[in-house]
Amino acid sequence: MAGSHVYGVDYGLDYVLEARGLVKKFGELRALDGVDLRVPRGKITLLIGPNGSGKSTLINVLSGVYKPDAGRVILDGEDVTELPPHERFRRGLVRSFQVPRLFTGLAVVENAAFARHGNPGEGVVSGVLRRLWERFEEETVRRAFRMLSFTRIKHLWDRRPSEMSGGQMKLLEVARILMPDNPKVILMDEPTAGVNPVLAHEIFRFLRRLTDEEGLTFLIVEHRLDIAVDYVDHAYAMALGRVIAEGDPRDVLEHPKVIESYLGG
Ligand code: ADP
Ligand code: MG
Repeated sequence: MAGSHVYGVDYGLDYVLEARGLVKKFGELRALDGVDLRVPRGKITLLIGPNGSGKSTLINVLSGVYKPDAGRVILDGEDVTELPPHERFRRGLVRSFQVPRLFTGLAVVENAAFARHGNPGEGVVSGVLRRLWERFEEETVRRAFRMLSFTRIKHLWDRRPSEMSGGQMKLLEVARILMPDNPKVILMDEPTAGVNPVLAHEIFRFLRRLTDEEGLTFLIVEHRLDIAVDYVDHAYAMALGRVIAEGDPRDVLEHPKVIESYLGG
């Protein structure tokens, strides 16, 4: 966002999440080939790169879905490399998936409510569901309605996800990501994938508002170059498992190496 690039100099910044020398191999392929990346607190950091460059793999290593073959993940100054995803969640690392993981048998508002305590496996849903409407969960339900209202899908609260459009599901995914208490950093893998440009801009406007008004911190993956640039504070670009550019979003977008990586497919 114009005027928000106040930290051109790297000194004294407070990073909430760091990747240090991350390597992730799939057989012979080095999907991550020594990635260093830092996510400044209270900002939106954008991660771009052509398909197959390693963006989702990085999100998976940062969130604990994959163990790296080398390197460390530092969350708020603490080395969490050995911790499973739910422990990282407990410590404030929240993520969304490229394909939303919604519970098809539950209503929209229930899908939102569940996200407050992480994304349980389908097996534990019924137990959680039983507790959901009990008194001590009233606050969760109220919060879920507030987030549905914020993302403008409150009118769909009692529908099933299958009755929503792809764009509405993406808005539900945004609502869900806002449910956990005091998230330290939110990782979103292509939150606008498959939605039309108007809605994509709306989603980024939401994320910008949340960052400015509630001091949240985001790392957002986006493979399209043009959508996010005006809403984010800082950008990284990856290609072939490596960071090839970092800095002011527009500079990164216009970096010759970045343009070349997209042209090269
Ligand atoms: P991006 O999200 O930037 O499109 P990915 O991180 O999904 O890229 O993929 C990076 C590379 O790793 C690609 O070549 C992809 O085919 C490969 N890859 C990703 N996940 C796996 C996996 N689970 N097994 C084998 N190869 C994978
Ligand atoms: Mg991906």
